[in-house]
Amino acid sequence: MRVGVVGTGISGLTLVDALADRGIDVVAVESRAEAGGIVRSQRIDGRVVELGPQRLRLTPSIESLVDELGLNEQLRIGDDDQPLYIYHNDALRVAPLSAREAVTTSLLSPLGKLRILAEPLTAPAKPDETVDELLVRRFGRQAARRYMGPLYSGLYGTDPREMLYEYSLGRALDNAGVGRSLLWWVAKRVVKGRAAPPICTFDDGLGTLTGALYEAHSDVIDLDTAAVEIRGHNGSVDVDADGGFEIVTETGSEIVDEVVVTTPAPTSARLVEPLDTDLAATLERFRYNQITMVFLDSDFDREGIGALVPPDGDLPISGTTWNASFLDRDRLFTCYVDPNSDPELPNRTDEDVGELAADAFEELTGAAATPIGVHTWTPGMPAYDGSWTAMDDIKPPEGLRFCANFVGRPGIPGRIRSAKRIAREIGERE
Ligand SMILES: Cc1cc2nc3c(=O)[nH]c(=O)nc-3n(C[C@H](O)[C@H](O)[C@H](O)COP(=O)(O)OP(=O)(O)OC[C@H]3O[C@@H](n4cnc5c(N)ncnc54)[C@H](O)[C@@H]3O)c2cc1C
Repeated sequence: MRVGVVGTGISGLTLVDALADRGIDVVAVESRAEAGGIVRSQRIDGRVVELGPQRLRLTPSIESLVDELGLNEQLRIGDDDQPLYIYHNDALRVAPLSAREAVTTSLLSPLGKLRILAEPLTAPAKPDETVDELLVRRFGRQAARRYMGPLYSGLYGTDPREMLYEYSLGRALDNAGVGRSLLWWVAKRVVKGRAAPPICTFDDGLGTLTGALYEAHSDVIDLDTAAVEIRGHNGSVDVDADGGFEIVTETGSEIVDEVVVTTPAPTSARLVEPLDTDLAATLERFRYNQITMVFLDSDFDREGIGALVPPDGDLPISGTTWNASFLDRDRLFTCYVDPNSDPELPNRTDEDVGELAADAFEELTGAAATPIGVHTWTPGMPAYDGSWTAMDDIKPPEGLRFCANFVGRPGIPGRIRSAKRIAREIGERE
């Protein structure tokens, strides 16, 4: 059995690692000159800047990967016992992430806080309900609009009014084992003292992890090699004819028995178009949000993980991560530009966008900031909005699989879990 993997972000790299571990012959192609995909660390003015995820949770699967790759010496544990803020009525207010913060925060009125306690008495999710509708109905308008909605949707850059509960938050809660009541689930964890795994990064950033995975398997990964088409073996459009696939690249092709595609949905659609036009049309339905990040230098010195800015406010940003505080990264802050704040955003220069974010940061925190870098991800992240119903219609031909954030959970631990599961399934078929 020979397996082809298209794309070597964290999903593709974990697949290569897990398949090789099982002794399966694997080959991977990557369009860029380096592996890692969205996980990308850079140095700007000597400072480590993360263009993608800013930190990871050190879950058991990440911990064993760190061990396996010998990265313990470079591992840095962050301090996430710090407040997360939400910008409301022109001030930063503590998001209630602990019982103490829930009592003391000025984000919610006493009635707003009491209303949350009624959640176990409210009806479960209704069909076609949006995340906003469900949160308002179960936790009250204040908690939903000021706190829970921004906390959840800020991860994806999508307005909770656009997200179908069943396809987004509902699946995440099901996966986490939350039953009838979220409040009960949280209370049980508090009583049992179940803490989330610590947050971590590496001295040189998260790219250390993907860089080490690449180094471990560089003999089977072709960098600078973009796949342009996936078709049945011998150019056939009918995979069942003699089994197997041909991954056509800009420079040649790879013949494989099974293929796993890890590229974003629009690219995946183009790749499979010659093989299956219906599948390509389904993949084209997924909407993505472009993400623009601005890296700022500031001497703002309040302790905190960061601040979320709910939609419909005056600031053109959706949030900031305070790398300087919880990761001890010298004077560094990361700002996420709200893509809906300005229809002209795509036409603005990086310099303009940098200034826009620095001004917003100053209004948010009261501290001056200087932009040191801007990065835009295109297509960005899946929007997890109504377009996510496309997930139910993905019916790939046998032997072709998708391992990507548009068909599963977007977080790195989730990506690693699904890559390992797919490697296991392939191993069992061998
Ligand atoms: C700004 C940002 C912040 C985030 N923060 C967090 C966080 O804090 N914690 C967390 O857990 N997750 C976070 N995520 C989500 C997480 O980073 C991503 O879901 C995950 O990295 C996606 O990995 P992937 O391998 O599935 O996809 P990708 O990283 O997109 O990998 C796909 C790969 O395919 C390659 N490729 C594309 N086209 C071709 C082609 N034609 N041929 C060959 N190769 C091709 C690409 O170059 C890329 O290397 C964040 C995401 C973003 C954008």
